[in-house]
Order: sequence, then C-alpha cells, then structure tokens
Amino acid sequence: MKLLEGKKALIFGIANKNSIAWGIAQTFHEHGAEIGFSYGIPQLERRVRPLAAQIDVEFIEMCDVSSDEEIADLFQKAAGHFGEIDILVHSIGFAPREELAGRYVDTSREGFKIALDISAYSLVALAKAAQPLMPNGGSIVSMTYYGSEKVVPHYNVMGVAKAALEASTRYLAADLGPDNIRVNAISAGPIKTLAAAGVGGFRKMLGYTAERAPLRRNVNQKEVGRTALWLCSDLGSGVTGEVVYVDAGYHILGMPEPPEKWG
Ligand code: NAD
Repeated sequence: MKLLEGKKALIFGIANKNSIAWGIAQTFHEHGAEIGFSYGIPQLERRVRPLAAQIDVEFIEMCDVSSDEEIADLFQKAAGHFGEIDILVHSIGFAPREELAGRYVDTSREGFKIALDISAYSLVALAKAAQPLMPNGGSIVSMTYYGSEKVVPHYNVMGVAKAALEASTRYLAADLGPDNIRVNAISAGPIKTLAAAGVGGFRKMLGYTAERAPLRRNVNQKEVGRTALWLCSDLGSGVTGEVVYVDAGYHILGMPEPPEKWG
C-alpha cells in the first residue's frame, strides 16, 4: 500500500546520497509522493540533480535558509509549481566547525548566533512560509539529536540549537494545530553524513552508540525515512508536537554500559 499517493512534499537539506533527507526522499517516492528539493549552497547542485532524477523530482531550487528573501522567493516558486503542499521536511543543521570541538564554554557569540539561526530559527521561518500552502492541513518534520537533552562531547552549541528546535516544534505544533498542520521532530542516532563529519570525534560516537544501544547497532537514513513516512502520512494523523526517537533505543539507557560489562 502506498501511503503518500497524491501528496506533495517539499524537502530541505539534501546535500548528497548520504543525507538523511535523501533517505526520507527515497521512502516518500516509494510511497507515491510528488517531491520537490531545496538545497543550501550552489556547489551542491551537481550532487543534488542526479539524485532528483532518480526519483522524478522536477522542482529543484536553492535556498539559503538564513535569508528571509531567499525563503520568500523559494515558497513563491513552490506555490507556482505545486499550488499546495502537504509535507515539509526540514533536514538542515549548521554550526561553524570550530564550535564543534573543545568545550561549550568557549562558544563564540557569532558561532552561537549562526548555529541557532540556521539550525533552529529556520524551522520557524519555513513553517510560517509553508502555512499558506497547506490550506487543508499538513505535516512538518525536522531532524534533531539527543545532544539537545544530555551533554555529548563536542556537540556543544548544536545541542543547544537542537534544544531550541525541539521547543520550537512544540510551540509551532500549538500554533498550527488548529489549521490541522502537525509539527514533529525525529531524534536520530548518529549516522555518517557530511554534517556529522563536522562534529569532533564523530567516529567515536558511532562506535560508542552501536556498542551500547539496545539494538546493538546504529540506525540508517532509510530507517529515519520510514519514521518520517508514518509521521507525514495519515498513519500519524493524531500525532503532533512530538520528538520521536530513531536511535536503536540508545536514549532509554540510564547507565549506558553494555550489560556484559556489568558482570
Ligand atoms: P547533511 O550534511 O547531509 O545535511 C545537512 C544539510 O543542511 C545540508 O544539505 C546543508 O546544505 C544544509 N544546510 C546547512 N546550512 C544551510 C543553509 N544556510 N541553508 C540551507 N541549507 C543549509 O547531514 P545530515 O546528517 O543528513 O543532516 C540533516 C539533519 O539531521 C540536520 O539537522 C542534522 O543536525 C540532523 N541529524 C543528523 C544526525 C547524524 O548523525 N547525521 C543525527 C541526528 C540529527
């Protein structure tokens, strides 16, 4: 059964074939959605276009989400192409590389502003711009990480930005709920992507999580895609304002050591 037949989805944040947004896009395509892509910088176009061709994406536009003008322009084009949309995927995160190493206490004012603007405020700006294109309701999904709740080495200001993203998810869900627009976030376990490579010691995070998570492995982009699928299809019609974990169960652990080590 195809769960997104007749639905139109605008997906932000595809950089390459490893992007979580690409896992989501493939899953949505398998389930019959008509998809549009937005990517962040001109250099990505040559990677994004071949992926778009694989799943019949015609709408491919650049949009730097730190610019209100670019967001307005993008949504004007999307309105022209799609008329209305049903789904918005926000799979965007950025912090200057120097902020993702060392101690959080050394975060610069500028680094803080950039991380919060691109990784959290942009969800608010995109949701506001998408609302007029969702007259019959819709579903908005963004991507977060457990570093919003607990201290994860080197995740630093991104953890603070993800906390703001998760709080924004709840406030947006309350504001847009009366229009039947649902807003949720997926908290994914570590996955090897371009953005993840910017986090100091990321490889260690992968190994540490896989060794301790209840499922004893890491998750992949397709597993995140399948959760986005139920949140954005009618299967998720009663769910809004939630953070849903796709992390092989890692976040449930109070003392994250493999039972073998407890003896
Ligand atoms: P990715 O590098 O493939 O995607 C990040 C995207 O953000 C890129 O497409 C990039 O172009 C875009 N972006 C950055 N600045 C932008 C701007 N100013 N305007 C528009 N787009 C911009 O990496 P990913 O891991 O797939 O990241 C997607 C989302 O998933 C991010 O929010 C990330 O924090 C989150 N996430 C990732 C992991 C992980 O381990 N990979 C885990 C949990 C959550």
